[in-house]
Amino acid sequence: MARTKSILTEAKQIERAVTLIHLGARLQVLESETDLSYERLLRLYKEVAGRSPSKGQLPFSTDWFMTWQPNIHASLFLNIHEYLNKTSELEEIDTVIKAYQLYQEQVQAQGLEALLSVTRAWRLVKFVDNGMLTMTKCTKCSGHYVTHPHEIARHYVCGLCNPPARAGKSRASGSLQMGETCAA
Ligand SMILES: [Zn+2]
Repeated sequence: MARTKSILTEAKQIERAVTLIHLGARLQVLESETDLSYERLLRLYKEVAGRSPSKGQLPFSTDWFMTWQPNIHASLFLNIHEYLNKTSELEEIDTVIKAYQLYQEQVQAQGLEALLSVTRAWRLVKFVDNGMLTMTKCTKCSGHYVTHPHEIARHYVCGLCNPPARAGKSRASGSLQMGETCAA
């Protein structure tokens, strides 16, 4: 019985790893989220992606999430993630995967590119978990956006309501829109 269970667990982990590779995840994400050995993950990665994984450090800074367009993308993803967290009983990494797939769908439906990679999405959830980032409600549109935890909620205005001057009106209107789920 225990043996059957372990095979099933392993099958599930491989399936998860394959899904993450298809979404473009870095090898470090797979190492962190599965119990599969580095060697097996490396082989799996090459087989699924048809190339070696990129080397180098993962992005560790929260700064990227604070820049204008990335912030809107990150906020859309995080709203979906929070929603799934509340309404489904998926395991943590499966919530990230599902939320990322839904984020991609929404972005593509608007004819835009996904600025947020799955690796960054995964890191974003970690940043929120350890209190380095949070969400703050915009005082104008009531959408919830990724911010630093010390953001003063009373004065907060999001990047869609107040795009940077350099963006101009046309670029602002061409940016990602948040959709219904975010203005709860
Ligand atoms: Zn707003």
